[in-house]
Amino acid sequence: MDHHQVTSDAYSEQPAAPTLLATSTGRLTPARQTVIDILNATRQALTHHEIESQARANGVRFDRVTLYRALDWLVVQGIVHKVAAEDRVWRFNAIRSSNAEQAHFHCTRCGAVECLDHTETRLPIRTPAGYKVERSEIMLHGVCAACAN
Ligand SMILES: [Zn+2]
Ligand SMILES: [Zn+2]
Repeated sequence: MDHHQVTSDAYSEQPAAPTLLATSTGRLTPARQTVIDILNATRQALTHHEIESQARANGVRFDRVTLYRALDWLVVQGIVHKVAAEDRVWRFNAIRSSNAEQAHFHCTRCGAVECLDHTETRLPIRTPAGYKVERSEIMLHGVCAACAN
């Protein structure tokens, strides 16, 4: 494919999600690969709309249903994770080995949601006796570096 995302950022050294995958439940179709390429190129969690526009900027067009299905499949496969900010819009990014735990930074000015490295597996919150935590999602709210300038 010749529509590689050219955006790079400070995190481009991070290990990327797998770019090839074949499982019993499906294959890595061009649409799925396009979505992974876009998500691997940024640490921003992107909405459907943002993924769609980036794909179009890269010369790839797919209809909304194809995009939704591709994202659903990538989430089920554990290649992509999703997070909702205060606007309740789902945002997606690739799962990198370093952020198996979900931690995000939400900028209250520009609305961007960024994936953060979070390797601390011990919760800073104690749960009542008898409760068993299955997963945690940490959302930090504040002002991102770009907006702070
Ligand atoms: Zn911001
Ligand atoms: Zn994330």
